[in-house]
Amino acid sequence: MALFDLVDFDHHEQVVFCSDEQTGLKAIIAVHNTNLGPAAGGCRFWDYANEDEALKDVLRLSRGMTYKNAMAGLHLGGGKAVIIGNPKQLKSEALFKAFGRAVNNLGGRYYTAEDVNITTADMAIVNQETQFVSGLEGKSGNPGPFTALGTFLGIKAAVKFKLGKDDLTGIKVAVQGLGSVGYSLCEKLHRAGAILVVTDINQIALDKAQTELNAKVVGLDEIYAQDVDVFAPCALGATVNDQTLAQFKATIIAGCANNQLAEARHDQALMDQGILYAPDYVINAGGIINVALEIGEEPYCANQATKLVEDIYNTLMKVFSKAHEENLPTGLVADKMARDIIANGHK
Ligand code: NAD
Repeated sequence: MALFDLVDFDHHEQVVFCSDEQTGLKAIIAVHNTNLGPAAGGCRFWDYANEDEALKDVLRLSRGMTYKNAMAGLHLGGGKAVIIGNPKQLKSEALFKAFGRAVNNLGGRYYTAEDVNITTADMAIVNQETQFVSGLEGKSGNPGPFTALGTFLGIKAAVKFKLGKDDLTGIKVAVQGLGSVGYSLCEKLHRAGAILVVTDINQIALDKAQTELNAKVVGLDEIYAQDVDVFAPCALGATVNDQTLAQFKATIIAGCANNQLAEARHDQALMDQGILYAPDYVINAGGIINVALEIGEEPYCANQATKLVEDIYNTLMKVFSKAHEENLPTGLVADKMARDIIANGHK
């Protein structure tokens, strides 16, 4: 495997392969860029088809964290870790301790946190071996409500920019996914007077949204073609693709899901269709902003986290304005802005 020639290799500063024979730990930690501060990003536990897939994922995700942290105004770089294998079979206290020692060996160049298949309890074990952990129970806690706040304000910014409206009364929003972020987002939208159309695979969440938030429930494949102002993807990645583009009636796409565009070219395609896209890593940064306040000298403060998350509104407005002025897709503009911050620091 020629690391430096891989398509996803983006001059990552450091890629560390970690193993521990006794516990079966096989992990890769990628430190993409530390220009703005120590690299921060969660650890994912996944049963990859092969090691190439794991490497590809960690390279791509760590680069994404650099851009996300930069646009969120954080003094943090981008990093990510993946543990390879079936979490149901491999998870053990000893394995997480071995992973903690691997993180500790980086001496604070990388801060880890929860991600897919990793819980706060798992991270508490990692924390026994290293201080370079964030998102611990009793500190910043569940990032979901902060991500929901950022996404709600991102929708407000998009509605203001695209439709010229300051409030959401009567604005129709189709929300895909009523999980930790999606349901909290729906509550905020409902309180703000928006009209909700929702879908999920979880019938209990759907019934709750129908009863408590007066939401209209539609089928999983029907959500894309709803006659709404905003489509808010809050479940899966790659929901903006050739099939869904042909169905959208919404003129705004703004939701919390990661990796919403199936391919980079869909950024331009959305613009060509007159759809305003709130770049995913900008609008969904509320959780990492909250977690980031655990890193550093100051004690964690929820009020400060809320203030920083509220700035997502202004950041998105800047992205939308610049994209409009330069006649470029919003995703491309956000990437350019992030690269500028990474090279020159926060102004
Ligand atoms: P979650 O697991 O709590 O919720 C996901 C929801 O999507 C669940 O209710 C699930 O039933 C539903 N779902 C699954 N498949 C579906 C389908 N085919 N159609 C419709 N709904 C489906 O996850 P979450 O924490 O709310 O995160 C949602 C998305 O936001 C994910 O893409 C996640 O990566 C991203 N995100 C989350 C955070 C955070 O703070 N939790 C931060 C940034 C990004």
